[in-house]
Amino acid sequence: MDTVASNTIRIDVEHRGNQQVIAACLLTGESGAAIVDPGPASALPVLKRKLAQCGLSVADLNAILLTHIHLDHAGATGTLVAENPRIGVFVHERGAPHMAQPDKLLASAQRLYGEEMDRLWGEFRAVPAENLNILKGGERIRAGGRAIEVEYTPGHASHHVTYFDSSNGLAFVGDTAGIRISNRKYIVPPTPPPDIDLETWGKSLDRILSRKPSKLFLTHFSTAEPVEVHLAELRERLARWAEMVRETLSGGADDAGRASQFAQNVLTEMRGQLSEQDATRYAKGAGLDLCWAGLARYWRKRGT
Ligand SMILES: [Zn+2]
Repeated sequence: MDTVASNTIRIDVEHRGNQQVIAACLLTGESGAAIVDPGPASALPVLKRKLAQCGLSVADLNAILLTHIHLDHAGATGTLVAENPRIGVFVHERGAPHMAQPDKLLASAQRLYGEEMDRLWGEFRAVPAENLNILKGGERIRAGGRAIEVEYTPGHASHHVTYFDSSNGLAFVGDTAGIRISNRKYIVPPTPPPDIDLETWGKSLDRILSRKPSKLFLTHFSTAEPVEVHLAELRERLARWAEMVRETLSGGADDAGRASQFAQNVLTEMRGQLSEQDATRYAKGAGLDLCWAGLARYWRKRGT
């Protein structure tokens, strides 16, 4: 665990034994503790162990702030709420129905992950509707003993929000500001199906930038700065990946071949700039085949 700001603790949930892939963030305050993106249910034992190291348990939580509902971010939520029904769950209005009735979300994830689904993410339990605090963006909420402003930031997911912590200037950006492990000099955009939209994503980055956060807290993984440089590099790589995927679409290969061609090209580039271990972490966090699929879907929707 690491303190990233006063009363603000990063928890590496060590997803399937891998360090620096998924980070939750614990916000502590006198009126109770909150967690931003608790991670998947498969990582709950680690989350609980690390809460205990902070002298806390699930009973001490009163809020979960979800940036979006993908399983690597939100999977543990229903299980935590079942254990402590006092937890209020903050989520965008387009994601909320799927937290209460996850069948469609899970069917869509099942198509992406197949047989790996349970092993990767564990059980996804529904959250009772009365525990949901539904956001549109523009709200000011209180959680973890501080005021937090909410901004709607779609692009990676159509229901993605960013939380701005008024106590320290941190922006909890989920996946909107990409993947960058412990502020290494390499940033990639996670672009899985089904929502990828480059135009709305770009506007979301503008909105994050305009609030001038001091640092970004990325789920994959930890804090990133300086913010302006980070976001500029992310924009560049997102545009580049989109072009790389578009080029594969005109080739003769089938989709599996196109995805693996893209993944190979990206991995080769990453290996040129990162250690082998880090390149593997980035690839795991992003899921390169899925990144191809999300961008291919974006282009095909536009008739490219
Ligand atoms: Zn993610």
